[in-house]
Amino acid sequence: MRRQIDYRLARRAVLREWRLGKVGRAEVCDAHPELVRAARNLGEATSQECPICEKSNLRLVSYVYGDSLKAANGRCVTNQDELERLGENFDEFACYVVEVCTECNWNHLTISYLLGRRHAG
Ligand SMILES: [Zn+2]
Repeated sequence: MRRQIDYRLARRAVLREWRLGKVGRAEVCDAHPELVRAARNLGEATSQECPICEKSNLRLVSYVYGDSLKAANGRCVTNQDELERLGENFDEFACYVVEVCTECNWNHLTISYLLGRRHAG
């Protein structure tokens, strides 16, 4: 089993603060333009509606981080095949999955997990 960290509780806390008016929309909808572009062009579509604007469905963008990845460190990975290939070629790296709304720029980490040969099988 891969080790996974789920950020649902943190996400719920942010949304609660927002609904209570403790944080402004600008603070929760602060996706970097690069992230929004990646979400629009390469992101994985979901059927989950944006919790902030409710105008668009969320898109998922995955990033991989790890010293052993060298040139691929910090890269946006868009499909499962590419992820599996990286997993076969490198010992260990982390994959972070971010949900993004391309309408209002809401973004939040959803899960992260470790991949690589060390975690195979
Ligand atoms: Zn939105």
